[in-house]
Amino acid sequence: MIYIPRRGVCLVLSAPSGAGKTAIAEALLDTEPLLESSVSVTTRARRPDEIDGKHYHFLTEEQFQAALRDDVLLEWARVLQGTHAYGTPRQPVERALAAGRDIVFDIDWQGHQQLREKLPADVVSVFILPPNIDALRSRLVGRAGDHGAEIERRMRVARDEIRHWEAFHHVVVNEDLAVATEAVRAVLHAARSARDRLTGLRDFVAGLT
Ligand code: 5GP
Repeated sequence: MIYIPRRGVCLVLSAPSGAGKTAIAEALLDTEPLLESSVSVTTRARRPDEIDGKHYHFLTEEQFQAALRDDVLLEWARVLQGTHAYGTPRQPVERALAAGRDIVFDIDWQGHQQLREKLPADVVSVFILPPNIDALRSRLVGRAGDHGAEIERRMRVARDEIRHWEAFHHVVVNEDLAVATEAVRAVLHAARSARDRLTGLRDFVAGLT
């Protein structure tokens, strides 16, 4: 198959929690061999079903501060009303992009803003919205159980996140997971063929002419 050397795509997915962003990212990772996920660092506690090094690199607050001092993060933010810090290690991203591998980022709006500033030509971003507020609430109830105060807190955080939709290149409403996944896949495929990303195009065309 013809391969024209290109830079990878930084596919940023952001959404209020409960909009289905993780499910979309997983569906794409399962079916797109050139796509990998960025593994963030975080100071929050590991959940029982999470694997250190796969879902996140779990750090203490001291280790996180050391990462900031050593400038190894491409972006970082305090998420969820400031309780925990999250950040994206720089080196894996730079290596993947240079090698023509695409990376999907599950980061919040603050992380997206910083990535766009640092890698303006690389980032393609998609904001995922729920079809309506009741769907979001019922997905959050599923996660938070019956704790009314916790549900309301998560709903507040979700509404704050939704207010940042205008900063994104694309917006996809997730009413049906399969349909929304295909919409995001279309964004990824279009980005791969963007002329400026195809670093080997000049040589390829020279061979044709
Ligand atoms: P959770 O703790 O539920 O895994 O993630 C909470 C939020 O943190 C999610 O909205 C997720 O997008 C965001 N997040 C995860 N990793 C990063 C990161 O590296 N940087 C930023 N800015 N946000 C992140």
